[in-house]
Amino acid sequence: MADPGISIPGGSRSLGDFLQEELGRIKNVGLLRRLRILESPQTTHVEIDGRSLVNFSSNDYLGLANHPALKEAAMAEWDRAGFGSGASRLVCGTLAAHERLEEAISGFKRAEAALCFSSGYAAAMGTIPALCATDAVIILDKLCHACLVDASRLSGAHLRVFPHNDMEKLESHLRWARSKHPASRVLVVAESVYSMDGDIAPLREIVELKDRHGAWLFLDEAHGVGVLGAGGRGLAEESGVEGRVEIQMGTLGKALGAHGAYIAGSRCLREFLINRARSFIYSTAPPAPVAAAAAKAVELLAGPEGALLLQSLWKNIENLSAALGIPRPPSAIVPIIIGDESAAMQAGENLLASGFLAPAIRYPTVARGTARLRLTLSSAHSEQDITGLANVLRSPVAPSGVSSPSRA
Ligand SMILES: *Cc1c(COP(=O)(O)O)cnc(C)c1O
Repeated sequence: MADPGISIPGGSRSLGDFLQEELGRIKNVGLLRRLRILESPQTTHVEIDGRSLVNFSSNDYLGLANHPALKEAAMAEWDRAGFGSGASRLVCGTLAAHERLEEAISGFKRAEAALCFSSGYAAAMGTIPALCATDAVIILDKLCHACLVDASRLSGAHLRVFPHNDMEKLESHLRWARSKHPASRVLVVAESVYSMDGDIAPLREIVELKDRHGAWLFLDEAHGVGVLGAGGRGLAEESGVEGRVEIQMGTLGKALGAHGAYIAGSRCLREFLINRARSFIYSTAPPAPVAAAAAKAVELLAGPEGALLLQSLWKNIENLSAALGIPRPPSAIVPIIIGDESAAMQAGENLLASGFLAPAIRYPTVARGTARLRLTLSSAHSEQDITGLANVLRSPVAPSGVSSPSRA
């Protein structure tokens, strides 16, 4: 069967015909995606198509996306530095706000240094190919985010994929790399929290293995920072291996409520990326107000307010799992696996009809036949929001499969 993402352009068809045909194909297999416009700020209660919905779909885990302190920091920076940065960081776009943000991040992450990128996607695409060329080996977890996969492919390195969280297979790939490519750099790529399953990596074991085999670790903490660890620093903190992960990536647009991403590590790593990461070198610097808002978010998270926000987030995670009768998930992401793509779409529609936003996630974001509702929790959800959602999910007309939610 034709893969909807791939096509063979037919000779002299016009672009319009080609696009129509492709869209028809995607639609026929139930995989057409559409954009929904949010008519309100990004919070737990949003407006879409004039309807008020309780939002369980955002990655704004700490309710910072619409926090007045971030807005104030952004507006003050706008007054001081203007909005557009006008050039790439290396030309004339490096502003005080960028440097302050990077200092805030390296302090927070207890790393020597940090470098910011305009997105997590750009951070991965810049960093992985800079570190690994065709002579290197990259070993990835099967469920790694698309940007990690794309970046690894772009690098041209030898790729090996291990089944999700399978440490035996990771070790056998490491052994293979060491015997077949003894002179090569070997990079292990993993996430802390897997974005569509909400489960976490066995990080201590990964660190032991990569150390034993002389490999480096690239850890994507997109859904770990602001959620895990006593100080919200992520899984590396929670696992007590902060000093042993060479390349720590995190995003500023999820729990931190702003936009962009960072790589934290050694001073040398930062300097190397400034010289080699193409998505950093050849891209306009993020706007100063965005960097200022992100720095404020890091400051909030590191302070007493951050501790309170983390506490309420975990109380909400506890409450939802209790209300659904499932074990407490290890992160703020709760997948309700449904399986069939159309059934999952229907389940999402049913929730929507009851006033809850938790869109279905399906192929190609997750494997075929593992379509799901992806619920995400925020510190800003009220008890009422959570019991309301649980009641809909447990009701007899609830989306099929929800009576026995499972986590992949
Ligand atoms: C969201 C996400 C990214 C991409 O970050 P952006 O800043 O949104 O580009 C990378 N990795 C993971 C695991 C993510 O969930």
